Parts: sequence; structure tokens; C-alpha cells
Amino acid sequence: MSTARRVAVVVLGSGPGGYTAAFRAADLGLETMLIERDTTLGGVCLNVGCIPSKALLHTAAVLAEAEEATTRGVRFAAPEIDLDALRAWKDSVVAKLTGGLAGLARARKVEVVKGTGRFTSPNEITVEGDTGTTTITFDHAIIAVGSSPIGLPGLPEDPRIMDSTGALEIADVPERLLVIGGGIIGLEMATVYDALGSRVTIVELMDQLIPGCDRDLVKPLHDRIAARYEAIHLSTRVTGVEVTSEGVRVSFEGDDAPDAATFDRVLVAVGRRPNGGSIGAELAGVAVDDHGFIAVDGQMRTNVSHIFAIGDVVGQPMLAHKATHEGKVAAEVIAGHAAAFDAVAIPSVAYTDPEVAWAGLSETAALAAETPHEVVRFPWAASGRALTLGRPDGLTKLIVDPETRRILGCGVVGVHAGDLIAEAVLAMEMGADVEDIALTIHPHPTLSETVAFAAEIAAGTITDLPPSRRRAQA
Ligand code: NAD
Repeated sequence: MSTARRVAVVVLGSGPGGYTAAFRAADLGLETMLIERDTTLGGVCLNVGCIPSKALLHTAAVLAEAEEATTRGVRFAAPEIDLDALRAWKDSVVAKLTGGLAGLARARKVEVVKGTGRFTSPNEITVEGDTGTTTITFDHAIIAVGSSPIGLPGLPEDPRIMDSTGALEIADVPERLLVIGGGIIGLEMATVYDALGSRVTIVELMDQLIPGCDRDLVKPLHDRIAARYEAIHLSTRVTGVEVTSEGVRVSFEGDDAPDAATFDRVLVAVGRRPNGGSIGAELAGVAVDDHGFIAVDGQMRTNVSHIFAIGDVVGQPMLAHKATHEGKVAAEVIAGHAAAFDAVAIPSVAYTDPEVAWAGLSETAALAAETPHEVVRFPWAASGRALTLGRPDGLTKLIVDPETRRILGCGVVGVHAGDLIAEAVLAMEMGADVEDIALTIHPHPTLSETVAFAAEIAAGTITDLPPSRRRAQA
């Protein structure tokens, strides 16, 4: 069956960026359609990314807490893990959210068209779905097609060689798991499988985990997992992967390369690539670069002025919270508002144990660009709350402008770092200086105080550290 429709705004892809754009456009009075090829709304984030991984990471945190409680005089029996029940719980969280999205779309009269959409001209998208073909003529389009995992060339096809989607299925708990890629996905899934009982090995091409993140922020994470995992090999590349009757045999090369070894499962987490190359963009005249990225201006417009693009497909960082903000901008610009994407800082968080979070100018980037800056570090060993949690393995640091004393960047490593970074992002958006934070009364005893203590170091007013750690006189 084929049908033809006309609409003011069509959004291609229903991940966090796409559904936010569609809902905002509808709320601004524009007739809006949302195209999605998967059976549920929500894209990678809700279905096979942020949400299911966090559900599993919470379970991992509970397991780790129970294990560590022995050092505080509380002993639990070894956990019994019912993988089917764990998977069902994770799936139920996903179903609640994706079902909720369908309800939010109905409440706004955003029509959802199920199928794979491709541009056929600058004002037309054709959607191939189970029930036939729909041709949609639009005034404005928003491309929100996201990204896909990058594979490694020459990998054999085998269910034991997984990407993040496969890993989230927790088909079993492999005795030995190899994670290729020490970035955020690899480290988050390693956290889950380690807690469930796998012996984890990580192999990373670069000379540190989470390349690009400041080394002092990565160190507490590295130290903790190095003590728990079977091995971490930096500056190492995988040279061969072979499926045998024993498992997956992997060979390595590099400064710290181990001998070839056999693993029960392998997770490949070496990055994601944008999906811009597979949507017929050329038929709409939209420029897509060789990597699959679509360039946009500050209003999220592509080179074709009535076609917008948002989220992973427009560039790094590939993060849901960047996409949602871009989605709102695109919808508002289409509705005639004077909107632009003008964020001072976009936070990044690795939900590992400990978590690592950073936003704004990093120390590494400041040094590389010779940007005048001052760094203050508050060690969590001096935080009452961190000690009560049994987790003094944290650090909160601020990068400060030496002239204006404004906050240029923030990095936090420690439990709940992802929640703590929000204050620093607000500070940067508001142009706050160190005194603004130091003079804000933070609740005691909380980890949020570590942000205030770091600001107090910079303001010269810290009393929770020896006097030598004060940077300036108040
Ligand atoms: P990534 O780019 O963060 O990390 C990939 C890692 O693999 C890098 O450290 C890279 O050096 C390494 N690598 C590349 N090729 C390799 C090889 N041949 N052998 C060994 N190591 C190799 O990518 P990712 O972890 O796959 O995540 C993809 C995207 O998803 C990122 O943009 C990330 O920001 C996003 N994401 C974010 C979150 C979050 O916000 N918590 C969670 C998951 C994913």
C-alpha cells in the first residue's frame, strides 16, 4: 500500500534528539511527524544505550557495595544472579520509557510513522514500512538519525563477538571477557560484567583509558579496576581474532601487548560512526562528509536552509543531552524563534566505578593551547562524606581563569561524579567565579561540598585542608 502525506515538520529518527525536536515543534503549534525504523521510540539511548546500561550499572554498584561491606563488618552471602530476571527488569525499565514516549507523542498529536525513511527530493521523504510506503512532503525536516557502532575490519561473524547492543543482552556471564576499546562504552560494560563475575581484560590503542580526559581524573578509575580486572593493556592493538572450539582467540601487538589468548566473549567498543550516509541526503542536496557527518550552523541548519540536523550525526560529542538541546533549537528556529545552540559547556560522564565527569576546558586542552589557567584540586580523602561512603578515591578539580577568577572547566572522579558535574556546568553557564561557588552554602555532609571546597582553595578560604593548600589570600 502506498500513501502520500503533507506535513509542516518531519523528524527523521526518534532518539533523544529526534523526539525532543518533534515534541517541541508540536508544542509550538507545528504539525509534526516522527519517522522511526525501530519498533519502539527512543533510539539507541533508551533502547540499547544509556538507559539499559544504567539499569545494569546500578545492579553492578549494589553488588560492589555488598562485597565491600565486609570491610565494614557486614557480610552477605555470595550473590545468586538470575540473569533472566535481571534482563527482564532492565527490559521493563526500557519498555516503561519507550511506552511513555509513545504516550507523549499521542498527547501532542505527533504522528509516528514506522519504517525506514530516505530523502527522495529536497521536500520529500519516502518511508518503507511493514505496511507499505508512505511519501511525506514537508516544509521543514530535522535529521536526527544518530550513529552506529564501528566494527573492526576482518572480525569473524560469531555471537560471542559483540557490540554494545549484544553486551547489554547479557546472554551469559563469560568467564573471560575481552573488551576492545577503553572508552566510555567499553569501561561501562566492563563494570557490569566484572560485577557479575567475569574476569575482564581491556585492550586500548592509546596510552590511557578514556583518551582525551585528563589523566588525573582517569587515575582513580584505572587504579581501582586494575586491582579488580584480569588485565588492562594500553598502547596495544588487536591484530587477529579467530573463532575456535575453545572460544575467541585474540592476538595483540604493542608496547604492552600480551601473548595471544582465548576469551569466552569479546566486546568491541572502538567508537561510533554517524549514520548520515544512508538516508538519501544527496537527493535532498544535503552535504554529508566522508565520515557520515552533516555540517550545521548555530541554528542547526544544514546547507539546505529548510533542512536541519541534530545529535550524533552533526558531530562530537555524541551525547544524548547535546542532542536534546540541539533538537529544541531546531524546532524553535523552524517556529520562527530567535534560538541558537550556544552552550558554554557540554558535560561528559563515564558511569564507571568510580564515575568520571568533566565539562568545559580540560587541563590537557588548556596546556595544549597555552590558555592561561589555574588548577585547584580537592582530594576526596578530605571529604567527610566520601569517607563515610568508604570511597575516598575521588578528586574534584576546577580550572580557573587567573584574571577573572571565573570557572573555565571542572573535572570530578568519584562515586556520583556524574551528578556533581551539573553544578559546575551551571556555574560556567552563569559566568560564576570561584567566590560565587565558595560563598554558596552547600549541604553538609555531601559530596557536593567537594565542588565548594575546590572553589575555596582557589579563593584562599579553605579550612578543611592544611594552610599550605590555599592558593590565594581571601
Ligand atoms: P570512544 O571513542 O569513547 O572509545 C573508543 C575507544 O576505543 C577509544 O579509547 C579508542 O582509542 C579505542 N580504540 C579504537 N580503536 C581501537 C582498536 N583497534 N583497539 C583498541 N582500542 C581501540 O567510543 P565508545 O566507547 O565506543 O563510545 C561511542 C560514543 O558513545 C562516544 O562518543 C561516547 O561519548 C558515547 N557514549 C557516551 C556514554 C555516556 O555518556 N556515558 C556512554 C556510552 C557511549
